[in-house]
Amino acid sequence: MKNSNKRGKVYLIGAGPGDPDLITVKGKKLLSRAEVVIYDYLASPELLRHVPEGAKRIYAGKRGGVKHTHTQEEINRMLVEHALAGATVVRLKGGDPFIFGRGGEEIEELVDAGVEFEVVPGVTSATAAATYAGVPITHRAYTSSVAFVTGHESPERSESRIAWDKLATGVGTLVFYMGIKNLERICEKLIRAGRDPETPVAVVRWASTPKQKSVAAPLKDIAAVVRKQNIRPPALVVVGEVVRLRDKINWYEKRPLFGRRILVTRTREQASSLVELLRDQGAECLEGATISLVAPESWDALDAAMDNISSYDWILFTSINAITFFFRRLGELGLDSRGLAGPRIAAVGPATAEKLADHGIKADLLPEQYTGEGLADALLREGMAGRKVLLPRAAKAREVLPETLEEAGARVDIAPVYRNVRPDSYAGVTAALEEGGIDMVTFTSSSTVRNFMEMLGADAAGLMEGVKVACIGPVTSRTARDLGLKVDVEPEEYTIPAMVRAIVDFYSRRQKPEDRSR
Ligand code: SAH
Repeated sequence: MKNSNKRGKVYLIGAGPGDPDLITVKGKKLLSRAEVVIYDYLASPELLRHVPEGAKRIYAGKRGGVKHTHTQEEINRMLVEHALAGATVVRLKGGDPFIFGRGGEEIEELVDAGVEFEVVPGVTSATAAATYAGVPITHRAYTSSVAFVTGHESPERSESRIAWDKLATGVGTLVFYMGIKNLERICEKLIRAGRDPETPVAVVRWASTPKQKSVAAPLKDIAAVVRKQNIRPPALVVVGEVVRLRDKINWYEKRPLFGRRILVTRTREQASSLVELLRDQGAECLEGATISLVAPESWDALDAAMDNISSYDWILFTSINAITFFFRRLGELGLDSRGLAGPRIAAVGPATAEKLADHGIKADLLPEQYTGEGLADALLREGMAGRKVLLPRAAKAREVLPETLEEAGARVDIAPVYRNVRPDSYAGVTAALEEGGIDMVTFTSSSTVRNFMEMLGADAAGLMEGVKVACIGPVTSRTARDLGLKVDVEPEEYTIPAMVRAIVDFYSRRQKPEDRSR
């Protein structure tokens, strides 16, 4: 990894306030080139997915002054050592590295040690917290100045470096970082120095993440409200008339699934589209794959079919996974889509059709109903007598489609292109269910339901009590009911976007989630 000819370099990068999508394009690009990453508590761990597999990841810790995993001196030393050894080092810090982030101190060390560096700014939590709490940090009608202030410094300190009296009356919007512990004293100090006690204040915890929580109250009351609602760090305090706009503008917390925690049980490869759509609606998603996909025990059936592909009338694709594994194998055989000339190609639904399109193939047939039965019906209408059909699919799958076609006189060759296997551990999900930390579980196939229930074990019914269930279609729902689950959501169209819309509808008819601040 490291070589002595290469000069190391340190990139000090702002990770943004919490939402992993709020990193800069430049920050993300540099992360994907890192050989060593040293990251903080406030930098979203999800950002590590941009880091190359073999890179060294070091958690620097630092949480509210207590559990310091590494001291600042150790961090400085690590940065210098790795860089001098020739590594590309990313130092990833929450928000912006130069705003209350000790970024300046770390860079000074690098300069002293003669290490090359660059700094990439980030979205600081102050602007993010205000924005995500529905507060424009400046507004022509209310304020024309902003100050970022540390609340860490005790206002009682006689040698205080903060000019409280000037701050209280001289600046429009005040944003305090690290201000929760000293909030009472900060408010008192501002009022004593002349700030109107009725000035509105918003406090925002875990801004820009699904666990965001915000409250607002006048300056004279906010400290009591924050204690009562048990709002702990990390949180920001925004003081100023602009906070009045919150009632009108608050958008983030009003998204339909905000505050809902939803478990996605599909394979890791497939989860992302569902997770992304749910997150767009404000949900917090937990991923608990119940299935991992591996190659079939033998490729013989598919290889034999490929040798003779022009003898087939149809190739049927009933899942994205089948397409992925099918084309992977084609690649291994030294073939590509052109090797499929001859047979017509059918997709079970729009997502499979789209996946085929990624391989340059336009599906010849798409049924009206996106199920095996729907596909069988559509094919029967095309005439199946004497037809030869190739069905690349999971090793174990429902037999309706091949059976129906064979009854109609077709010859169906099933070629297993992948196997579903159950992951070993489900401890994280079980723990989340035990703590009541999951509102809804989503199932996108019968095997996700079966594996889920098996992985929860004997206490499955107890763990699922009160947890809502969403299934993608009637077949999955039936399996869920057979296994003792009550199905709350099932879309009319069996697609992921329709399922997400149905979940949104379901929750729109219900009350907002109760507060479960963590
Ligand atoms: N460099 C960081 C700030 C580090 S100081 C930045 O630019 O944002 C740490 C303080 O930042 C916390 O105590 C808290 O006040 C604030 N903070 C950071 N991330 C936050 C978040 N997602 N929500 C609310 N406050 C946050």
